[in-house]
Parts: sequence; structure tokens; C-alpha cells
Amino acid sequence: LWRAARSNRLPHALVFQGPRGIGKFAAARWFVLGLFCERGLPEDGGAPCGACPACKQVLAGSHPDVFTIEPGPEEERYKLERFIPREGGGRTAEDFLKLRALHGGYRVVLVREMERTRHSQNEVQNALLKMIEEPGRGAMWILECSRPEALLATVRSRCVPVNFEALSSEEVTQVLAQAGLEGEESRTLARWGRGSPGAALDLRARGASGLREQVVRALQGDAPLGAARAVWDVEGSFAGKTPRAKERERARCVLDLALRVVADQMRAGAGAPAETLAHGDLPALGTPVGRTRGLEVLLEARADVERNLDPGAVIDRAFCALGEAGR
Ligand SMILES: [Zn+2]
Repeated sequence: LWRAARSNRLPHALVFQGPRGIGKFAAARWFVLGLFCERGLPEDGGAPCGACPACKQVLAGSHPDVFTIEPGPEEERYKLERFIPREGGGRTAEDFLKLRALHGGYRVVLVREMERTRHSQNEVQNALLKMIEEPGRGAMWILECSRPEALLATVRSRCVPVNFEALSSEEVTQVLAQAGLEGEESRTLARWGRGSPGAALDLRARGASGLREQVVRALQGDAPLGAARAVWDVEGSFAGKTPRAKERERARCVLDLALRVVADQMRAGAGAPAETLAHGDLPALGTPVGRTRGLEVLLEARADVERNLDPGAVIDRAFCALGEAGR
């Protein structure tokens, strides 16, 4: 991309896409750093200096030619006023793009977790589309996105994709070591995170190993209702504005985990080697028919959570059905 910039062939809209938690946004910021570094665009294999005033401003989020849209701690979806001006709203991407570049160079809008612009009316993406279609001088969009299918086809077709892949397990354990995690815990989380250090750290913050214990109990048919209740005592931090939203998030997390466990059980039953599976350390739980039924139950429960049914009742019912399917 820096090479394309050196010959003035940089597209004015890019989508940095790939699995969640693997460093796409960090890569986007690194790329932007190179665009503004006062030592000029990095040579092939080179790097921005990270120390000049422009680099420092980009790193501090205060560069006048870079506008970053990042989710706040309780912000599930991006509202329209992040992109175009509305009464009572703050500074928007549109306001930013109206101004000329400070040194006649790029004006970059960097959007983190672009999948959060998905709305039933698609008003955010339609507003975005207009801005992408009529780029002002030097305007450049970098959209970071883990679920490109959440983008409108019209938006996707106007952006050049930059693909990122999941990391190897050695790379994941290296990143986890930087976060102070080592040994068995790190290896387990790296396996569960499937090439995404971000996912591994998320799972840890959500008390995934405690949650998995309860999933295993239910699958063994060992007091499934007790296991369902114990899910709520596992320590973990779950995002959400209200207590109910946090409960929903916990329910999603435990059901997703259960789905992965059951899917791996089925893969193991079909002959997949244990070391290739995230949950390959577990013995066979229940019967093949029970596992198939378990998968159905979990998918139904997952949809019930999105339908806003009581998360406690959803987990009770799912775990009881899992226990029965397991027997
Ligand atoms: Zn620099």
C-alpha cells in the first residue's frame, strides 16, 4: 500500500478485512502512520519512524488530517451522527472531510469495527456510500471490518479489499506472552481463539474456562440444571448497557462456546485428529445422535437470545435438553 501511495495509485477506499482480534486496526493505523511520517513514505520493507511530530500525533490520535471512528465502551452500533451532522451530535466524518488537508496531502477517515454500522434501514452505510462516491481532494477511507458480509454490496464494490488471515498458534502465544500469559493457560486460550489473540483474550476476560466446565457437565447429563445455574456464578466481564444486556452477552458467550464444543465432538467422531480441534482435549461426551440433537438445541437457543427471550430461561432449557440429548 505504501508502494501504491509512492506512485499515487492509492485507492480512496480500503476495507481491511479478516477475523476479529488479529490486528487489522493496528495494521491500518500503522499504514496511516507511514502516510504521514515526516521522513516520507517507507521504502519496501521499511517502517515509519514513530518519533517525528506527525507520527506522534497519529499515535496520540490528534493528527489534524486523521479522523478515527471507534466504538465507545457501551456503543453496540454506530449511529448516523458519527458520520453526518445531526442536531446535538459531535464532530462527524462529513465535517472532517469538508476541511482541506493541512499540507495538501491525505485526509484519512479510519473506521474501527465497520460491522457496527449494520442497521435495518442501512442509513449509516447509505450515508457513507455517498461520501465514498464523491471523495474530496485527498480523501481516503479505511474501513476495518471482521464481517464484510455486514456491508452493503454497493459499499463493498467501491472499496478495495485488503485481506488479513488468522495467526499461527505460535504467533498467538507470542502475542499472549506480551499480555503476560504463558504455559498451559496460554496454550489453551490460543487453541480456543483459533488464530486470534484478541478472541483468546476476550475468552479469558469472560471466564471461558469456567463456562466450559458447566457446558461439559451438561453434556455429560450430570445435573444439567445445576450447571445452567452455575453459568451465572462464573466470574467474567460482559459488555452491555443494562444488567439484562450483560446477561444476554453472557448467554451468547456460553452458547457459542457450547456450539464449538459440540461441533468439535462431532468432528472428533468423524475422525478429525484431536490436536487439530480447539476442544480436542475433551473425551467423547454423549452419543452421536445426542450430539446432533445438542447442536440443534444450541442453535435454537442462540436464536432465542437474539429474540430477546429471558437469557436465564434460555440457558436452563438448552442445558436440560443437552443433558437429555447426551443420555
Ligand atoms: Zn515519523
